[in-house]
Amino acid sequence: MSARNGAVAPAAYPPAVDPQREFIKRGLDPEDEVIEVGVAIVGGGTAGLACANRLLQLLAEDPETMERLGEVPVAVIEKAKTCGGHSLSGAVMRPGPLQELFPDMTREQWREEGFAFGEVRKEAIYVLPSARTKVRIPPPPPQRNHGNEIVSVAALARFQQRQAEEGGAYILTETAATQLIVQDGRVVGVRSGDKGRGKDGEPLSNFEPGTDIKAQVTVLAEGCWGHMTGAAIREFNLAEDREPQVWELGVKELWKVPKPLDRVIHTIAGWPLKLSARYHQIGGSWIYPMKDARSGDDLVSIGFVIDLDYADATTSAHDLLQEFKTHPMVRKILDGGQRVGGGARSPRAATGRCPSCRCQGR
Ligand SMILES: Cc1cc2nc3c(=O)[nH]c(=O)nc-3n(C[C@H](O)[C@H](O)[C@H](O)COP(=O)(O)OP(=O)(O)OC[C@H]3O[C@@H](n4cnc5c(N)ncnc54)[C@H](O)[C@@H]3O)c2cc1C
Repeated sequence: MSARNGAVAPAAYPPAVDPQREFIKRGLDPEDEVIEVGVAIVGGGTAGLACANRLLQLLAEDPETMERLGEVPVAVIEKAKTCGGHSLSGAVMRPGPLQELFPDMTREQWREEGFAFGEVRKEAIYVLPSARTKVRIPPPPPQRNHGNEIVSVAALARFQQRQAEEGGAYILTETAATQLIVQDGRVVGVRSGDKGRGKDGEPLSNFEPGTDIKAQVTVLAEGCWGHMTGAAIREFNLAEDREPQVWELGVKELWKVPKPLDRVIHTIAGWPLKLSARYHQIGGSWIYPMKDARSGDDLVSIGFVIDLDYADATTSAHDLLQEFKTHPMVRKILDGGQRVGGGARSPRAATGRCPSCRCQGR
């Protein structure tokens, strides 16, 4: 891509990283230096843990295959201190997949487990024409959340971790998989990263070198921007004839509020975004009611998501959220409250429709 009208095209300056060279290890270390598992799942988010739980349910009915997978049939490799430790999400969730995964559990039990906060019964979608005004619109079909469940994705992952451990999974937390191991054209496992290195890269007293984790099957569930997934896509040409992946950036805050919010709120387009071609800021916000499982405090999850194809390089999702909070509609909800947490993460925007969250698959 060439520069146009003096503009600099990022595609002309690819990052100085060669994913295949850096993130693929050619061949396993000698047998006595490797850890062997049946199925290695990289990533203890909701997807990786759903995979572990379903696999263990199937293996419980198939002892022969379980036997063939060896002493550690299913291992989950998660770089955070606990599963869910790096998860960040709205989140309003379609209940169907979780009901299918754990058919004996009721939604009331989800709430008792502390990861679910109730069914969406009331919702409102607004377009904000200005910093003071709002126009309510009927929820477009992909954004209709009636009947969905409000959850904490991090707490859901912790619950899934407990289930997986009870089912026999080996969960290696605080362990990053750094390289995909490819031998004879096949993925044969992953290499875990060294632990206990100082900021300058020098080994500290608690230094532990990384190890090859040999697996009969390797599942990559790294979330939306996995460096090994990126390398695997190139190595095995998995992107051919597929739509390219596109991403958004989401920033979120958790607020303790004096009054419970009685509905799920979304805003789309409009203020504080600048939609003109010069800025091309496309995005929207969410405000969801939640409860602190331990203290019973009323909380709201509030966040702003912006497509990563904005035209103005100074666009800041964080600043947009701060501005958004000054709108009278939002101010009223947060007034007298206190921010108790915050974070940012990049979700993948499917090119189709994202069925349960507000991103509409952009
Ligand atoms: C701001 C925001 C709002 C959202 N709102 C909603 C919503 O309202 N409803 C909805 O349904 N969805 C929503 N989503 C999307 C939802 O959060 C994701 O679809 C979901 O979290 C994806 O789960 P995952 O397990 O694939 O990935 P993640 O949740 O990203 O989990 C990946 C895990 O893998 C670990 N990991 C990654 N690489 C490695 C490695 N190399 N080694 C070891 N561990 C690794 C990470 O630490 C992480 O724990 C939202 C997302 C964001 C960011």
